[in-house]
Amino acid sequence: MSTTRLHVDWTACDGRGLCAELLPELLVEDDWGYPVARTGEAEPAVPRQLQASARRAVDRCPALALRLVQR
Ligand code: SF4
Repeated sequence: MSTTRLHVDWTACDGRGLCAELLPELLVEDDWGYPVARTGEAEPAVPRQLQASARRAVDRCPALALRLVQR
């Protein structure tokens, strides 16, 4: 069974950390403002109760660098 995961396109992300503000349960900013998963995963799993918030973060990413993927 696949899991919904948050994928960051590092070639597009401009590192202003908006997604970490919108999704603090999953993401923190590193010292340069780039988002990193609290779990340390490259593509953190998005629990069902955070999927609406994750979708909002995807829609608001100014660089179109965030995606939800099924893996
Ligand atoms: S909102 Fe988009 S551009 Fe900004 S830090 Fe997050 S992934 Fe990068």
